[in-house]
Amino acid sequence: MPTTICPECSEEVFVDAESEQGDSVSCDECGSRLVVVGLDPFELDLQEEPESDGTSDDDDLQSSDYDDARY
Ligand SMILES: [Zn+2]
Repeated sequence: MPTTICPECSEEVFVDAESEQGDSVSCDECGSRLVVVGLDPFELDLQEEPESDGTSDDDDLQSSDYDDARY
């Protein structure tokens, strides 16, 4: 399984060989949520996750304009 470097803690992170750009992985070392931004070689970036605990999708309505600002 390929590894790459966590941008947060600089430790090696295992990445599924079949990962695609935009996939999310989490760092075993620091627990950061990361997103695959490059494939050859694998490259990870911190995944921005504003005020979400991952348990509810219903609250996303009022922050829908936030996604536009990220890109
Ligand atoms: Zn890390």
